[in-house]
Amino acid sequence: MCSQVVTRFAPSPTGYLHIGGARTALFNWLYAKANGGKMLLRIEDTDRERSTDAAIDAIVAGLDWMGLSYDGDPISQHSRVERHRQVVDQLLADGNAYRCYCTPDELTEMREKARAEKRAPRYDGTWRDRDPSEAPAGVKPAIRLKAPQQGETILEDQVQGTVRFPNKDLDDMIIMRSDGNPTYNLAVVVDDHDMGVTVIMRGDDHLTNAARQSLVYKAMGWDIPTMAHIPLIHGPDGAKLSKRHGALGVEAYRDMGYLPEAMRNYLVRLGWAHGDDEVFSTEQMIEWFGFDGMNKAAARFDFKKLENINGIH
Ligand code: GLU
Repeated sequence: MCSQVVTRFAPSPTGYLHIGGARTALFNWLYAKANGGKMLLRIEDTDRERSTDAAIDAIVAGLDWMGLSYDGDPISQHSRVERHRQVVDQLLADGNAYRCYCTPDELTEMREKARAEKRAPRYDGTWRDRDPSEAPAGVKPAIRLKAPQQGETILEDQVQGTVRFPNKDLDDMIIMRSDGNPTYNLAVVVDDHDMGVTVIMRGDDHLTNAARQSLVYKAMGWDIPTMAHIPLIHGPDGAKLSKRHGALGVEAYRDMGYLPEAMRNYLVRLGWAHGDDEVFSTEQMIEWFGFDGMNKAAARFDFKKLENINGIH
């Protein structure tokens, strides 16, 4: 028997619900609905300086206005830090991670050397095999995951197809900083695993992270969820979506009197298509939504088209 589909929306609460985030949430909601599954909400609030309660409220209110309900209570990533540390300890105990005592100066030197040699900076593995008893006094270690040193990491992505990453580009990433705080790529994997997430759908700016995250899954012996990295949204001129293209926060459209149906209908077509259809009821979206209709090219947000769709609803 197949397990139940569990998707998630995992915003970082640093501002309003962005159009791009709303589209990601919509896709996850539709995929869950289309498959009789659940969508969970995880608030990625580990950056304590940039995360605010006002942003959490704005995201929840934006989802609510869009009619995108999530299952259960929102989960705070920050509240799970002890569990993240536990997994780091296990990776260390199993020999899949190690303590890196490099000083900031040494790391800067490594970066500068790479720049001089015109190649991407890469951690040189200094502390991979070095005896920790040689550690300099007073340096608190960061923890790094041992990445494979040769070959490729291959991701099967529902939108991007087979994506190959040379392992030399995925050098031994830091999974816990020297201040004891787990990094994003570690926390996301632990949370997705513990929450029983079966499908990860998010912007394709996370594709390299996905390759790095897959190394954590493998080291822990966990199943990698189905992944679908959806193209980012650009402005009508093809440039990265910015304020000059129109309002970027969902709440602004709500306040201008747009209808949530129109917003859903418009956003669903940014990265997904069903033939040439332009107008969908929510029931039709749920019936037809799937990976098949997704495309790789960046989607374009066009204020005028949104206005037209709003006129129809
Ligand atoms: N918090 C991340 C963001 O807002 C998303 C992480 C994820 O979906 O894995 O970009």
